[in-house]
Order: sequence, then structure tokens, then C-alpha cells
Amino acid sequence: MAYEGMVQIMDKQKRVALVAHDNRKSSLVEWCEENKNVLKRHFLLGTGTTSKLIAEATGLPVKAYKSGPLGGDQQIGARIAQGEIDMLIFFWDPLEAQPHDPDVKALLRIAAVYDIPVANNRATADFLISSQYMNEVYRHEVFDYNKVIEDRVKSFSK
Ligand code: PGA
Repeated sequence: MAYEGMVQIMDKQKRVALVAHDNRKSSLVEWCEENKNVLKRHFLLGTGTTSKLIAEATGLPVKAYKSGPLGGDQQIGARIAQGEIDMLIFFWDPLEAQPHDPDVKALLRIAAVYDIPVANNRATADFLISSQYMNEVYRHEVFDYNKVIEDRVKSFSK
């Protein structure tokens, strides 16, 4: 089935979600401190503990959702599905199982569904933050999900 594309537009000011598992928190906090001058031009949000640590270390405002294991990843995933988040910086821990593994997987999946840039480590985050697109409006072609739903409804109706 072919779908016509739809253009998604990111403003100059990006809405950046920040999440880190416990063993990766210090690395994300350090990265935010190093990139404070760029980050201060954008709108920051994140899971509860991560947000508070970043706000404390950088002095930047970070809107805090619930802690990850208490539903924070799901809240952020829901905002991605609503088109309210432009990119995800998620330093997840590849060496330790998390009590909320299904939520972690769901967050990564929904970020892929809505085609937003995702960084899972410092190197990727460095590439993202130094992109020219951080300073300008960015348009990219995404699936037209309304069309997908319409076609699915048609395929089920008699
Ligand atoms: P936290 O949640 O920032 O509240 O620790 C992150 C996570 O574990 O998903």
C-alpha cells in the first residue's frame, strides 16, 4: 500500500526531550552542561529525575514529567504521538535491565513511528546538536497517518 507523504515542520525553537537511565545520568547531565549555550535556545522537558538533575546542574528550565518507572516514558511517548516533541535525547542503559523495560521499548518505538531524531549516546547527541537544523525551521516528509487510519477503516468496513 502506498501512502502520500505529509510534511512535518519543526520550528526554530525545538522541543527537546531528555531521558537517562541511572547509570547514564551523569553522562547526560555533563553533556547538557557542555551544550548549555545551544540548549538554552530550545524548550527542554524530560522524565522526573533526569529533568531535575539537568535543571540543577545547568540552571536551565526543564519541564519535568513523572519519573520513568512511574510512567514518565509513557507521558513523553504520548507527547511525541501528539506531535509535541521534536527530538529525543535518551541515554538508555545497554547493560542493565530496567523495571520499566516495556515502557522504554514503547518510547523508542513511538519515536521511530513519528520519525523524530533520537540520540542514544553522546556521539549521536553531539552530531544532532551541532546540526545546522538546530538553528532553523526544518521540514521533512513523514507518513500521512490519517490516511493510514482511513485506509484501515475502509478495509474493515463492509
Ligand atoms: P528518571 O526516569 O529520569 O525519573 O530517572 C528515567 C527512566 O528511567 O526512564
